Amino acid sequence: MLKPLPMSSTIDTLAALVAFPTVSRTSNRDLMAWVAARLSAAGAEVRTMPGTDADRINLWATIGPPGPGGVVLSAHVDVVPVAGQAWSSDPFRLADRGGRLQGRGAVDMKGFLAGMLSAAELAATLPLRRPLHLAISHDEEIGCVGVRPMLAALAAERFLAAACIVGEPTGLRIGAGHKGKVALRVDARGRAAHSANPGLGVNAIGMGAAMVAEVEAVAAWLAEEGLRDDAYTVPHGTAQVGTILGGVALNIVPAECTLAAEFRLPAGEDEAGLVRRLEAAATSVGAARGGEILVTITNAYPGLAEPLNSPAIRLAASAGGLMPVTKLDFGTEGGLFREMLGLPTVICGPGSIDRAHKPDEYITRDELAAGDAFLAAVVRGLTAEG
Ligand SMILES: [Zn+2]
Repeated sequence: MLKPLPMSSTIDTLAALVAFPTVSRTSNRDLMAWVAARLSAAGAEVRTMPGTDADRINLWATIGPPGPGGVVLSAHVDVVPVAGQAWSSDPFRLADRGGRLQGRGAVDMKGFLAGMLSAAELAATLPLRRPLHLAISHDEEIGCVGVRPMLAALAAERFLAAACIVGEPTGLRIGAGHKGKVALRVDARGRAAHSANPGLGVNAIGMGAAMVAEVEAVAAWLAEEGLRDDAYTVPHGTAQVGTILGGVALNIVPAECTLAAEFRLPAGEDEAGLVRRLEAAATSVGAARGGEILVTITNAYPGLAEPLNSPAIRLAASAGGLMPVTKLDFGTEGGLFREMLGLPTVICGPGSIDRAHKPDEYITRDELAAGDAFLAAVVRGLTAEG
């Protein structure tokens, strides 16, 4: 006979989590203290691990006997801002709108985190043969930056597990891959002059425009000749310029222009080669115009390409994750778990990413319950030898 499900409901947990306004780049200490207390009370071994900033931490928890055959469940606690969004209710107070549980982070991804806490409480009541690990990170939404110090520390300890499930919302479909991202800053430096005699200056906006054209040429190359993977909605890598800043006044030849650009690439695409191509263009445009252009990588995280025979796919499928496997256009921490810890990793969580980052973000009661059932099956699997 299985013991009864844990006492605290996942919905109540979600309501508590949503009430902490853990917007990216702000402190998460209050939320993490609350989660740590819950997990400790359930009997988990909880470790607070440093983040990238003093007011932000990561949390690592383990339930069950030590050993390399465990399963890692992963969630991030930061949420995107609500500024400028028209919400029909307080975004930091969970509202039940006819079965839609509405609040910032409800689907991305405090719903899964609430399920993880329920799963930990269930695990504490079962005779586990292999451990359940929870990896709870900060600042995922700004480029998967927060989880890195935690993964680096675990890698230094030679941490091993059988599989990792990152619970970003996939409608419980099994995500076997996602694209990686390279964010770049392009700084063009020219020379100011009176616009009545522009030949005395070097127009930095002109250089910036040439670099915009180069980024678009990369985008065209990716679409036509880049690595192709039809499992993605956009079946190839993409590139775009997101912001451009330059110039002081119409009658001054602009001396500075800065662009922000990004590549989003399926795992296996030649990321370094594309960056080199942009750097080569920067050198030749700068030289031709008498200025200087600098290309800097401001952030990058790897894509994920899980092989079809991955134990993580088998695990997720056996727990009720939906086949066939899919690939996700949005990035996740999954590629980092794969790259830094070598863990077989899938992305699988309840609800739809289409509702994330928007006003009136929600997860339904049914989706939350389906997530609970999925996680309960994962936990019960840990009562068997791997
Ligand atoms: Zn997310």
